[in-house]
Amino acid sequence: MLTPLQKERYSRHLGKISEGEQESLLSKHVVQVGIGGLGSPLAYYLVAMGIGTLTLIEYDTVSISNLNRQILYSIPDLGSLKTDVAKIKLNELNPDVKINIINAKLTNKNYADYISDADYLVDASDSAQTKFLVNDIGIKMNIPFTIAGVREFEGQLMSVIPHKTACYRCVFGKSDIEGALDNYSDPIGIFGFTAGTLGAMQAAEVIKGLLRKEGRLLNTLIMVDLEQMQFLQVKLSKNPKCFC
Ligand SMILES: [Zn+2]
Repeated sequence: MLTPLQKERYSRHLGKISEGEQESLLSKHVVQVGIGGLGSPLAYYLVAMGIGTLTLIEYDTVSISNLNRQILYSIPDLGSLKTDVAKIKLNELNPDVKINIINAKLTNKNYADYISDADYLVDASDSAQTKFLVNDIGIKMNIPFTIAGVREFEGQLMSVIPHKTACYRCVFGKSDIEGALDNYSDPIGIFGFTAGTLGAMQAAEVIKGLLRKEGRLLNTLIMVDLEQMQFLQVKLSKNPKCFC
């Protein structure tokens, strides 16, 4: 049962989702990889929406060049671990949500410790290698997931139900580097609003995924170009040669 305070907190979206669905969200565990440009708005919106637990996996510290897009952080946070700062800010926003922080780089050796009871997995990293890893973990552990990438004015986003819909490798092949959503880290440029747009879209996909809503980016890659304000959906199908 939602408390009177929760009913008020979530009142502007209750009606569009039911109280029962909100209760369900408040019992869900989302694991988010990366809390940078995509991950800042993503985490803010997941926490504002009211999920049960958000596990954040990130090993980086805050630097001044992060501040054009990584809206969780401010000048006083320079040099601090992103996980530490994120936990404080997200707790202040919504104490309903338990924030777990993992100060580590996700690898194919440590993932089981962090992800075993996750209901949803979301990649907000800036590394193609990590995107492939998140894909493979999601498939292996049978956890639905969303992956996004951004650079300059452009972004791409897709969601996957393991074994049922096309995965990241179905689209981008075997390589850990080539043909990926790209390694969109420095020195490639990125506008804050591009990361903000795609991060918010990821939050929508995660929430719809947790509630099994329609209209998700399944068997679909959306390509966003904010310079020309174009949104293009590309239909995908599972690659019979892919491991998924
Ligand atoms: Zn596949």
